[in-house]
Amino acid sequence: MALYARRFLLVVTLCLLALSSGAAPRAEHVFIISLDGGKPAAIEQSQMPVLGRLVAEGAHTWTATTIFPSITLPSHTSMLTGVGPDTHHILWNGWVPSKGVVGVPTVFSEAKKAGFSTAMFVGKEKFRHLLLTNSVDEFNYGRSDAILVVKSDGDGGEVKREGTVLADRVARQAATYIVEHKPNLCFIHFADADSAGHRSGWGSPQQLETFAKSDAALDVVLKAISQAGIADQSVVIVTADHGGHGHTHGSKNPEDMEIPWVAWGKGVKRGFTITVPVSTCDTAATALWLLNVPCATKMEGAPVTSAFQ
Ligand SMILES: [Zn+2]
Ligand SMILES: [Zn+2]
Repeated sequence: MALYARRFLLVVTLCLLALSSGAAPRAEHVFIISLDGGKPAAIEQSQMPVLGRLVAEGAHTWTATTIFPSITLPSHTSMLTGVGPDTHHILWNGWVPSKGVVGVPTVFSEAKKAGFSTAMFVGKEKFRHLLLTNSVDEFNYGRSDAILVVKSDGDGGEVKREGTVLADRVARQAATYIVEHKPNLCFIHFADADSAGHRSGWGSPQQLETFAKSDAALDVVLKAISQAGIADQSVVIVTADHGGHGHTHGSKNPEDMEIPWVAWGKGVKRGFTITVPVSTCDTAATALWLLNVPCATKMEGAPVTSAFQ
């Protein structure tokens, strides 16, 4: 009898533990901010005082890595699903409606299933490929404000034009929404540095200028988080989809593959340098770990727990 009682108590305790961990996210609000083409070496040369403050007050590594191919849609898909391209199968890099949506769960679908609110503010329309049914409460791509960005590889190769919304506009849209709706999981994408990299080269003065503009846009978002009254409940992750070399990216070269990974906010260690290897797939895993949401399928990424107290 005593044995049964002890076993019963153990089961009850484990259930309560499971319930309590499900009920209490480590952070109520997670913001993932991606600097498209955010090569660490170029960021280092840029004037980015706001990002510098997040680094000083938070945890960071400049040698996180993206997936191969190091191009925007496949890389962001890994960032936001936690799995590599062999699993998510998004290998193209444009908005192609006939290709449908991603076939694996996203951070948004998993957070939404757990009852959290979700939002995406993006500078490129191809992110629509990540919109699983009822997974994103607010998807904001300001097509009417998009400018056509000419993309060549700098070697006389193929030239493409892609509609792109400037970071300043994306940030203002996100800020208004954050203040009003206080989303639990919010992805914000600043495309300017990638556009400038294709136009003028990675690390060019023109591109460094766009990193400074993205820093101002980051400030707009951070101020909105404060104004919403959720700063002490939030974690902000600033990262990138890929770097770049010359006028292009996409290779396995570290110049293309290395990305920043900066975490700031609730529970994040201050002034901490992350020493474990960080992959872009870890961003998805970290976001769900912070919200205390289990993922229905196995992620290849793991939460960057060493960045947190
Ligand atoms: Zn990109
Ligand atoms: Zn690009």
